[in-house]
Amino acid sequence: MQKILRIKTNTKAVLFEEVKTEYAMLGGRGLIAKILNDEVDPKCDPTGPENKLIVCGGLLNGTMLPCTGRLSVGGKSPLTGGIKEANAGGTAGQMLGKLDIKAIIFENKPADNKWSILKIDQDKAELLPADKYVGMGNYALSAELRKDFGDKIGIVSVGVAGERGYRNSTLQVNDMEGNPVRAAARGGLGSVLGSKGIKAIVLDVTGAANVEYADKEKFVAANKKFIAAVKAHPVTGGMFPNLGTAGLVNMINGLGALPTNNFSDGRWDKAENISGEKLAEMQSTRGGKNGHRCMPGCVVCCSNVIHDEKGNYVTSSLEFETIALAGSNIGIDSLDVIAKFDRLCDDFGIDTIETGGTLGVCMEAGKMQFGDGEAALKLLQEMIEGTDFGNILGQGAEVTGKYLGVKRIPTVKGQTLAGYDPRGLKGIGVTYATSPMGGDHTAGNPLGVPTVDPYKKEGQVELSTQMQVFMATCDSLGTCMMILNAPLGEPENLGYFLEIMSGKFDGEWDPDKLFGIGVQTIALEKAFNKGAGFTAKDDKLPSFMYTEVLPSTGTVIDFTEEDMAMAIPF
Ligand code: SF4
Repeated sequence: MQKILRIKTNTKAVLFEEVKTEYAMLGGRGLIAKILNDEVDPKCDPTGPENKLIVCGGLLNGTMLPCTGRLSVGGKSPLTGGIKEANAGGTAGQMLGKLDIKAIIFENKPADNKWSILKIDQDKAELLPADKYVGMGNYALSAELRKDFGDKIGIVSVGVAGERGYRNSTLQVNDMEGNPVRAAARGGLGSVLGSKGIKAIVLDVTGAANVEYADKEKFVAANKKFIAAVKAHPVTGGMFPNLGTAGLVNMINGLGALPTNNFSDGRWDKAENISGEKLAEMQSTRGGKNGHRCMPGCVVCCSNVIHDEKGNYVTSSLEFETIALAGSNIGIDSLDVIAKFDRLCDDFGIDTIETGGTLGVCMEAGKMQFGDGEAALKLLQEMIEGTDFGNILGQGAEVTGKYLGVKRIPTVKGQTLAGYDPRGLKGIGVTYATSPMGGDHTAGNPLGVPTVDPYKKEGQVELSTQMQVFMATCDSLGTCMMILNAPLGEPENLGYFLEIMSGKFDGEWDPDKLFGIGVQTIALEKAFNKGAGFTAKDDKLPSFMYTEVLPSTGTVIDFTEEDMAMAIPF
């Protein structure tokens, strides 16, 4: 029987609760939205005692469906001031499912200002003193926790950035090799867990039972067909295992939407140097690996492991978004510098997208030259050391940009845009502007839809709405978007997936019921944001994008406030 684990950090009480009936068919992002609406004042201080940090898996968590161990975390975001769900791969999501825990809710603040770790195993959950772990970066922390509790544990942790309350801070989840490299990165949620005095969650599934199915035979049969379709698909069976998401660099550059020099162009003559193809060439001479999986059972394997020139491990996984924001966006064409940047961000516990955007506005302000990798790593070091300017950088691109007097700040609702300039892919512009998540590509990315012209506004509001519902559904199921995005576009595969849902939950499933999960999730999120004070006037892109022509495409943003108001009308 699934349960909710509630941690009252003020009294150190650890309580198991029954799952309310109305929560039974909610998971991941949808469950987070419901709990936040039920329990949190949307006007609260994000790092104050009234906010809550929720950690949970999705509805399909722990099942045999591959790539279904995304771990969702959520709360009111210190970065956007609105609702935020961020999710990560790695090992912890599946473990939470195996432990039959539907959600962990952290509330209040420790009265004694002491740090704890939450240790959960099959028989119990307890808060343990974390004094010896405080001040550790995520890599050292992961090694120490594995030494103390065994190398089979799942770990969710905050780095020093989360301890310090930086608004760009993450929660890091360990991968199958124990490295803390999978990040629930966006929205600064690491600082919310940090505000609760929690340094890490440690999960041990020894002896845990497998999840239940309404009709296991049906589930297994449909699952087999769906996996075969995923493996046969050119994106999930070809590009991702061979090049990882880095394979998108050349594609997005070709489209003219690759953020370049603080979003001042969308095509870069050095993009080839940071492409997926270049990365694969490096892997072949140095070791490292493409086709790596971040969680057991993944059949797509979009992750990679990066080595330096001497063949030593540096980081995993170097993703397109990091390459775009810490590469072309700041004029850096060295994959080695970007890999170092990624390693430092994972260890310190900060979002690579937000940090790349922050360095972009620093370069725009003349704090350093575009393309100066050494200077970029030095600024990152300032953040790590906590200098006065480093503390400003840790508040993200919008705060830093305003502090430096920069006019061109690429943020929506306080959050840096991801690796697609919306003037060159207008559908994602609608998503950035209207998603309750702020500027977030994972909220609904309409890339590669052949029926809608990416440079024109016609059809984009409808397309973005469709993709936002799709992603809110994925994020509520706990299934990696990599496995669903391309394959579910084919009716036969959607049919297999509906059978999977029926095998797990019983009853008949049709597309309306499946994607109704996403509609309900977004409606709850919008209700929370309304309570927090957001209005239609906040659903807009950075002002420079409405007037400044993107040289690569010759386009500007031409959506009106009325256009944006038509998106996600739930
Ligand atoms: S496809 Fe990539 S992100 Fe998704 S589960 Fe597999 S390795 Fe992880």
